[in-house]
Amino acid sequence: MIERALCEALLERLFPINRSLTGPGVRQTLEVLSEVVGLTLHEVPSGTVCYDWTVPPEWSIRDGWIRSEGGDTIVSYRESNLHVVGYSVPVSGYFSYDDLVPHLHTLPARPEAIPYRTSYYRRDWGFCLSHSAFLRLDPQATYQVLIDSTLDPSGSLTMADAHLKGSTGREYILSTYCCHPSLANDNLSGLICSVLLFRRLAALPAVQHSYRLIVVPETIGAIAYLYRFRDIMKQVDGGYVITTTAGPDRPGYKESYLGNHEVDVAARLALGDDHIPYSFAPSGSDERQFGSPGFRIPTGTITRSKYYEYQQYHTSEDDLSFISVDRLLQSLDTYWRAIGFLEANVTYFRREDHCEFQLGKYGLYPDVGGLLHQGFGDRTTVGTAWPVDFDQDQLTEAFAWLMHACDGDTSLLDIGQRSGLSPRLLAYAAEQMQMNELLDAT
Ligand code: ZN
Repeated sequence: MIERALCEALLERLFPINRSLTGPGVRQTLEVLSEVVGLTLHEVPSGTVCYDWTVPPEWSIRDGWIRSEGGDTIVSYRESNLHVVGYSVPVSGYFSYDDLVPHLHTLPARPEAIPYRTSYYRRDWGFCLSHSAFLRLDPQATYQVLIDSTLDPSGSLTMADAHLKGSTGREYILSTYCCHPSLANDNLSGLICSVLLFRRLAALPAVQHSYRLIVVPETIGAIAYLYRFRDIMKQVDGGYVITTTAGPDRPGYKESYLGNHEVDVAARLALGDDHIPYSFAPSGSDERQFGSPGFRIPTGTITRSKYYEYQQYHTSEDDLSFISVDRLLQSLDTYWRAIGFLEANVTYFRREDHCEFQLGKYGLYPDVGGLLHQGFGDRTTVGTAWPVDFDQDQLTEAFAWLMHACDGDTSLLDIGQRSGLSPRLLAYAAEQMQMNELLDAT
């Protein structure tokens, strides 16, 4: 299926599913995504201790409603899965207005929106409803309430991954979260963008680096994944946490905790100058876990209408009309370009690393002294096959940076970042030096 049609079909199929940290909605979602990329599912039993956290009981819900004395349904889970607070314990009975109100969540600032609320680690129950519907409740009335849910201590948390093996020994993660119910930008857009990105990678004949797609419930899922695969994850070089990719705002980039790691450089090159920069903060998504001292995996996020930054965030107004397939596919293309920069990113070392090379011996330096930096761009005096869009001054500058920086540890993206030279120019110059047996790739 072509990508756009696949994207549209996934949005349609996945949007209505009730997802949470655990439960059948997560499994159903992962099964649908498995049709796009071959995912391996991992079940982590409830009660499993992962560092300072414990995997909660598995939550499932069949129904939930509030009815008036006359039998009219006022809120219903079947109408919107946002109406029941995530992880609500079961409840059935009659409540006075005063006893019911502490269990109701509204958003007075957006009176028509149903907020999204959860209570994962404190046993509680509740309903979310629009503030306007709340104002219509009768303070003198009694209400009938039902939440038909289960918290199963012998259940499990479901997570999924897929892996592509490259040849360089470097590995990048593409991580996203699958725990939000019917909310489009946060994070159905991230889920779909991630699997479409991995699908593109999997369709390549070969990849330079290894890539690991990780689909987990946010926070506890990332922690459980890091715990179970800690030996592998400690070797990961960097990656992206893919979330909120299709909102109406301009593209943005939340940098990794390092701010200038190759994943940051690649993302900024892919985005171009016109994007909203978000500096790193230890809030947000699973970069908090990946970046923790025991793992220190730098991860960035290319986003459109980043979580926290839009009024519809975590409300029923973050629906399919808030996002667009065009913007989701644009974010996908941006991630794809960023990965292209990572794929082309080579780390070289010098075969002989003392002092500069005498470049003239290899035809890499003008024969005529004094020509450089006079703005002539004379291509006839050096070599024979320079591409016309690199002139002699640029190449000489690139050679100088490569001779200085290629220590087996500093990549072309690092050198580009430091020097301001384009990765394409550096890659071309490095190839020339490699052909002359001056450099080798690590
Ligand atoms: Zn969220």
